[in-house]
Amino acid sequence: MQCIDNADITQLNTFGVQAKAKKLWQVKSEQEFSELASRYQQTERPLLLGGGSNLLFEGDFDGEIFHIQTQGVEYSTVSQDQVEVRAQAGENWHQLVQQTLASGLSGLENLALIPGTVGAAPIQNIGAYGLELKDRLVTVETIDLKHNERLVFAQQDCQFGYRDSLFKQNLGRYLITAVTFKLSTRFSPVLNYAPLTELAQAKNLTAMDVFNCVVATRREKLPDPSQIGNAGSFFKNPIIASSHAEELKLQFPNMPIYPVDEHSTKVAAGWLIDQLGLKGFRDGDIGIHKKQALVLVNYGKGSGRALNELANSIIKKVYQQFAIELEKEVRIISDRGQ
Ligand SMILES: Cc1cc2nc3c(=O)[nH]c(=O)nc-3n(C[C@H](O)[C@H](O)[C@H](O)COP(=O)(O)OP(=O)(O)OC[C@H]3O[C@@H](n4cnc5c(N)ncnc54)[C@H](O)[C@@H]3O)c2cc1C
Repeated sequence: MQCIDNADITQLNTFGVQAKAKKLWQVKSEQEFSELASRYQQTERPLLLGGGSNLLFEGDFDGEIFHIQTQGVEYSTVSQDQVEVRAQAGENWHQLVQQTLASGLSGLENLALIPGTVGAAPIQNIGAYGLELKDRLVTVETIDLKHNERLVFAQQDCQFGYRDSLFKQNLGRYLITAVTFKLSTRFSPVLNYAPLTELAQAKNLTAMDVFNCVVATRREKLPDPSQIGNAGSFFKNPIIASSHAEELKLQFPNMPIYPVDEHSTKVAAGWLIDQLGLKGFRDGDIGIHKKQALVLVNYGKGSGRALNELANSIIKKVYQQFAIELEKEVRIISDRGQ
C-alpha cells in the first residue's frame, strides 16, 4: 500500500470540503488487503473510504484513511438467462451499471447515477426508483477487521433494511472486498415509481430506456457534485407511528405519507424541511439546494463543521414543528473519526 502523509482529501469527498488526513493509504490490489487488515488493527483512528459521497468531514481528520480502489469485474453464467457479476469493491458504481447494461444484462438500471463505489453500496443498501441493492445482490465478500478473517455473507444474512444493513450497524468492522449480483438477460422492468410509471405503456421497452429515464431525472433534480458539493440526501425519510402520521395528516392534509406496515408510516423528510421554508436557504457558501430540500450543499469554501451545524439546526426545527426526529443518512467524520 502506498501512503501519503498529511494528505489533502478535498477531492476525495463529494461535498468538496477542504480537509486533510494524517495518513492516506491507497489500496489498489486484493493482495494489499491483508496488509490493510493488520495496519487497521494497529491504528487508533482508521477510516475506510470509497468515493466519499456519503460522508462529511467536519474538518481535518486526525487518523488514517484506507482508500479502496481495487478494480475488476467477472461474469459467470448460472442459468439460461441469469448471470452472476462479481465486482471488486473499488469499482465505480455507475460505471458498473453501464457496463452490465452494455453486456446485455438488466437489473441495475434503476440504480443508475448513484455516486460511489461497489464496496460501499451494501453499507446503506443503496436504493432509488423502487429498487434496492438487496434485490439484486447474491453475496458480500468481507474481511472481519476485528478478527482478521475472511467472511462471505449471503444476501439473507446481511440484515438489509431501508438504508441499513449489518455492515452499517457495525461500521468499520467489515471491509467489503467484493460484491456479487445476479442479473438477467431477460428484462423485467421495475416501474412502480414516478416518473418510471409513465414508461409502462411504452412498446418494446428496454433496460436502456429505464436507465436513460433515471439518468435524465436525476440530472434534472439533483445537483452534480462536480459542480456543487453535496452528498445526496442528507437525512433518511423518517418512519413514524401511523397514529402520529394520521394526526399530522389532519393538520397538514397535503403531507405525503407511505404506509410501511400496520403500525408505521414513512414520511418524506424533504417535504418536512420544505414546509419550514428552508428550500434554497443559503448562508455564505453553505445551504440547502433550491430544487431538493433534502440536499445540503457546499457552494465553494463552506466548512464541514458549518454544514453539520446547519443539519443539526434543521433537525431541531423539524422536531419543534412536527415532533419528528430526523436521522442523518450522511456519516459525520470528526477529527477523531465517525
Ligand atoms: C448526488 C448524490 C446522489 C445520491 N443518491 C443516492 C441514492 O439515490 N440512493 C442512495 O442510497 N444513496 C445515494 N447517495 C449516497 C451515496 O452515493 C451512497 O451511499 C454510496 O453507496 C456511497 O459510496 P461511497 O463509495 O462514496 O462511500 P463513502 O462515502 O466513501 O463511504 C460511506 C461509508 O461506507 C464505508 N465504506 C466505504 N467503502 C467501504 C468498503 N469497501 N468496506 C467497508 N466500508 C466501506 C465508509 O467508511 C463510510 O462509513 C447519493 C450521493 C450523492 C452525492
